[in-house]
Amino acid sequence: MSHATPYRDMRMLRAAREVSSTYTITPVAQTPGAYTITGGSQPYTVQADPNWKAEPTCTCPDATRRKDTWCKHVIAVFLKEPTLRCQLIDLFLE
Ligand SMILES: [Zn+2]
Repeated sequence: MSHATPYRDMRMLRAAREVSSTYTITPVAQTPGAYTITGGSQPYTVQADPNWKAEPTCTCPDATRRKDTWCKHVIAVFLKEPTLRCQLIDLFLE
């Protein structure tokens, strides 16, 4: 197993850093693990599982097109939320 982070993941992490610093990530009321992301061309919704059982989802075109990797919005939510941050490890274990 390689310890080098795949290039696509580094690129995605940089994109996520951009999202977390310039977009607004707002928890959806009454829906644990759901966040609305605004500040891009359109608002998107990320649904993460606080219990770390289900894969996170996002409504953006990138996430819809490529089911095997996380989009930058999912990563940005995980970066921002201390209670979800540990789930980022999944990025590096696959
Ligand atoms: Zn997305």
